[in-house]
Amino acid sequence: MKFLIAGAGIGGLTAALSLHSVGMRDVRVLEAVPEIRPLGAGVNLLPNAVRELAALELAENLAARGADLTELGYYNHLGQEIWREPRGRAGGSRWPQLALHRGALQTALADSVRARLGNTAITTDARVTGFTPLPGGGVEVSVAHRAGDRPTERIRADVLVGADGLRSAVRQTLYPQEGEPSFNGTAVWRGVTRSAPFLGGRAMVVMGDGRWKAVVYPLAVHPDADGLVPVNWAVSRTVPEGLPSPDAAPAAGDDGFPAAVAGWRCGDLRMAALVADSEAVASFPMLDRDPVPRWSFGAVTLLGDAAHAMAPMGSNATTQAVLDARSLAHALATHDDPITALAAYDRDRRPRMNRLQLLNRAKGPEVVIDLVHERAPDGFGRVEDVVSADRLAQVAGAYARAAGFDVPSVNAPSPYGSPNRPRTAVRER
Ligand SMILES: Cc1cc2nc3c(=O)[nH]c(=O)nc-3n(C[C@H](O)[C@H](O)[C@H](O)COP(=O)(O)OP(=O)(O)OC[C@H]3O[C@@H](n4cnc5c(N)ncnc54)[C@H](O)[C@@H]3O)c2cc1C
Repeated sequence: MKFLIAGAGIGGLTAALSLHSVGMRDVRVLEAVPEIRPLGAGVNLLPNAVRELAALELAENLAARGADLTELGYYNHLGQEIWREPRGRAGGSRWPQLALHRGALQTALADSVRARLGNTAITTDARVTGFTPLPGGGVEVSVAHRAGDRPTERIRADVLVGADGLRSAVRQTLYPQEGEPSFNGTAVWRGVTRSAPFLGGRAMVVMGDGRWKAVVYPLAVHPDADGLVPVNWAVSRTVPEGLPSPDAAPAAGDDGFPAAVAGWRCGDLRMAALVADSEAVASFPMLDRDPVPRWSFGAVTLLGDAAHAMAPMGSNATTQAVLDARSLAHALATHDDPITALAAYDRDRRPRMNRLQLLNRAKGPEVVIDLVHERAPDGFGRVEDVVSADRLAQVAGAYARAAGFDVPSVNAPSPYGSPNRPRTAVRER
């Protein structure tokens, strides 16, 4: 059976590796950019994703490239603790929570695809522009190249997987009326700074005042010769009603950034220094997509951001793309007919992702920061006088269950089988 995957992001590459792990050999990844470069900043792999990557024998390699996080804390803008929970193994999961540079993750996955499926398994400068279902089954995919003597090409396949991200061409062919992604009024600035470790070196901090929010975590745990580690930071600002437009991308100095967060501290973490010392600062509008009623149409399906682009709450997008990939391969391995398999994958993943997209629009677990700010804008003596511990635990627990990283779910065997038992240092406890 011949598979074409549009997009060599985390989702597309993990799909290729997952298909290979269940015995599919004719798998080709088509990537629009001329060269895969380590773009972006930090991403998180929650323990449910690490379990699946361990089944692909990738977890040890990935763990060596990032930080094994052991706690997540929510704080107000004064650095007062609202909620703190142990994460990964420290929280009782059999698998760690890994934070790493998106580029390091993508490069490791691309190297593994080439090593396992062959050097020609990924074609760059190959933008999927659309597809036509074939009457006898399968699909004909249109591909545009910028270089070479064949600007457009048509390739036939039994299955097309649209893993081509937020502005997916495959999704646009399936949902031609959909238009641009939704802008939720929030502007984001992001960077990576070489900095001294903070709060013990393995913590994720989310702090905010109802309008501004900062998310900070390390991308390595072992300091370099100067005692520094790469630290990922993102600052977001909710735009007042009436202003928003996706074109209104923020710029450094715009409307209070970085001054609005310059005084923020959390233990030994200093936002002013993090932003000032950043290697580069990227800025962009926060975008997502509406849930859709169907991902799989005959021999074509969607995966990752192309299927369920969500607001970046709860550090989930990359994790869920990995789970999609494993679910898809499992469905194809356990159904004789690819169309039935794609429908089974849709039933397995889409309802849960539809719910998660809406939860993230409502700020996911980070909603507690706004709640506390509304009730105690100038800080508090004891957080339990502002919001009960039960309520905080309920918000965190409900989100973990919705996203599938609650400890019982993570510690259960993978629902997607285990073609390769983990035989690595990053293994079940
Ligand atoms: C350049 C970049 C930087 C990012 N940085 C961060 C970050 O710092 N932090 C974070 O949390 N998330 C980041 N993300 C998003 C994050 O990678 C995803 O939310 C998540 O990993 C799910 O990945 P995905 O594979 O579904 O989508 P993506 O990571 O968006 O990958 C989609 C891939 O498809 C390719 N593509 C797009 N259109 C076509 C087409 N028509 N034909 C063929 N290929 C196509 C893209 O070039 C890309 O390689 C970034 C995404 C990109 C593309």
